[in-house]
Amino acid sequence: MDKKLLATNLASVLEDISTYPTHMVAITKFVDAETTRELYNLGVRDMGENRSDKFLAKLEALNDIASEITWHFVGHLQSRQVKLIINQIDYLHSLDRLSLAKEIQKRADRTVKCFLQVNVSGEETKGGFDPDRVIEAVEAIKDYNKIEIVGLMTMAPIDASETELHHYFAELKELQVLILSKNYPWAPCGELSMGMSRDYRIALEEGATYIRVGSALYDQK
Ligand SMILES: *Cc1c(COP(=O)(O)O)cnc(C)c1O
Repeated sequence: MDKKLLATNLASVLEDISTYPTHMVAITKFVDAETTRELYNLGVRDMGENRSDKFLAKLEALNDIASEITWHFVGHLQSRQVKLIINQIDYLHSLDRLSLAKEIQKRADRTVKCFLQVNVSGEETKGGFDPDRVIEAVEAIKDYNKIEIVGLMTMAPIDASETELHHYFAELKELQVLILSKNYPWAPCGELSMGMSRDYRIALEEGATYIRVGSALYDQK
């Protein structure tokens, strides 16, 4: 894509978030390896992908710089694909079921930093733990020494109003604080992965520490 547009868009997002202590993960699922490399050249070091095959292809295309990038996996991860990627990523934002945790425990060579995905809006099409079941899920992961629960993640519904967005993000924050208060050694749950291109400003107001930004970096305004 056009390098100038990419640089302008990136600068505009960084300007927007400059007063918040947050990590911006550039979601690169929409763009090719060349544009991902351009983001790297512009200083971005946190990159996120949501498909195993595309992620692996990118790792290969960027093998000269890949080790300097912190790789985030943000999409639904099928259990049979865990072994392909789990030792290549730094963060998994979408630990959305216990069977996935079990597979990670089996396949990971080292501890993986994971966000538990929570379905705060209750949308049937969305993955993630029901808010009422999150504590139970954290406790079930206790003996999985390959999993470190660093925080919670959510995706808001596409059609949520501003008020609803505030509500969903605040609910995730409340859950995160609750887990933190329990001092589980395996769940130093200090982080909140929430906010995408259209709602990161609201997510930041509600305490996001990781935002996942894709289209705002690539689209013409
Ligand atoms: C694609 C994706 C994003 C980024 O979406 P944009 O709206 O383009 O910013 C963030 N999180 C997840 C889980 C995604 O799949």
